[in-house]
Amino acid sequence: KQTSNIKTVNPYNNELVKEFVPMTDIELAAIIDKADKAFASWKNQSFEERAKVMHKVASLMRERKEELGKLATLEMGKLISESIYEVELSADIFDYYADKAAELLADKPLEVKNGEAFISYEPIGTILSIQPWNFPYYQITRSAASNLMAGNTMVLKHASNVPQCAQLMEDLFIEAGLPDGVYNNIFIPGKEIKSLVSNPKIKAVSLTGSELAGTSIASAAGAKAKKVTLELGGSDPFIVLDDVDIDLAVKTAVDGRMWNAGQVCVSPKRVIVPEKMKAAFLGKVKDVFATLKVGDPMDKETNVAPLSTEAAANDVIAQINKAAQQNATIVLGGKRMDRKGAFVEPTIITDITSEMDAFHKEIFGPVFMLYSYKDIDEAISIANATKFGLGGTVFGNNIKKAVEVARKIDTGMVYINHVTGIAPELPFGGTKNSGFGREQAPMGIYEFVNEKLIRTT
Ligand code: NAP
Repeated sequence: KQTSNIKTVNPYNNELVKEFVPMTDIELAAIIDKADKAFASWKNQSFEERAKVMHKVASLMRERKEELGKLATLEMGKLISESIYEVELSADIFDYYADKAAELLADKPLEVKNGEAFISYEPIGTILSIQPWNFPYYQITRSAASNLMAGNTMVLKHASNVPQCAQLMEDLFIEAGLPDGVYNNIFIPGKEIKSLVSNPKIKAVSLTGSELAGTSIASAAGAKAKKVTLELGGSDPFIVLDDVDIDLAVKTAVDGRMWNAGQVCVSPKRVIVPEKMKAAFLGKVKDVFATLKVGDPMDKETNVAPLSTEAAANDVIAQINKAAQQNATIVLGGKRMDRKGAFVEPTIITDITSEMDAFHKEIFGPVFMLYSYKDIDEAISIANATKFGLGGTVFGNNIKKAVEVARKIDTGMVYINHVTGIAPELPFGGTKNSGFGREQAPMGIYEFVNEKLIRTT
């Protein structure tokens, strides 16, 4: 089999840092065997024993947050403060499931007309987890913490541009005392992973990534009657109501859009403001853009990072150019920056219509798209006009009114006066082409367990 190596390239300067050789089919099969064997004992460990390991992972992550943070920034370019925040958030998610799993998965009595019955929540085996690079630790954690606490084992395929983060997570699990084979990192290019789905020892698949990868994996899993959860792309609306503090709405939307250089599935990708507010809003967005400092992601003063790779930067530029060709207005930016690294100028686009690609597609970069509406029905119709349904925001002073609007947005999550966020105790996931299933929160732990009915009388 001919495959190129998996590479770490620092997107700040495009220098090659390290290469890893993809695993052979024989090595991969051996790892899946190991995960399957480990399941036989891991499923019988008590919640207390499993929790001890997860708490230890959390404490190791907190102790080593600077080191882990620097590695994420080196491999995929995000701001160092964002990397460190991500490590802390991941530690919180490990603690959350370590504390909650026993309660969430305790036998649940059912109300039965005659006799007695209960639900026993039982792990199902080895889960194949396929994850993207944009949150190198958090993406692993979201999938691993609930599943390992439930008693499943895991084979983790991380994105090819973050192999060192992937390896470090496996090392942390081992250091924390996780038994051999319970969590396994594999190195394999994404386009080759489909064949692993049909391995009978893989019981289910959890994927976060693009629609293309998601539908390909879901069809392979469907052909073998295996359950899948998909967390795919998004083009979140950010609806501004007419009673807002404009400065606060502008600051929240711009900060949200520049988070991770715009490479967040729940970034506010489409900001939708009342027509009469548009000129003032745009003026203030430009003012905030003027304060943005694009540069070295290791420098704490920088607030816009490079994109994850040279290819990602070129893809975003192609999308901006397409928008310009289709007569959208590029108000600011729109070009590669005149420097080394995968940098794209922070960009503002307006006058986007439903005939344009920019209206329908996800732009994964620092591109602020501004829409306007005449009445609230039009705002909701713009918000719902894409195939995506991940997150969204309604910004308004009257919370009751904002909630009414939130109910009409076809997404899995809506935040009032905040960009779609992340917390261990809140579910994360979408609807429409953004996927199905939920991670985090109580809901996340039930995705890959057998909810077995036991009737006792
Ligand atoms: P991607 O290409 O789909 O990569 C994600 C993962 O899937 C990587 O591990 C990748 O491996 C693998 N992969 C790629 N092609 C595959 C295929 N044909 N079959 C199976 N696996 C495949 O995604 P991306 O474009 O780098 O990541 C950004 C996307 O993820 C965006 O659309 C973003 O919105 C979405 N995302 C969604 C969430 C959410 O929670 N909904 C969170 C974060 C990101 P290789 O790296 O080896 O190709």
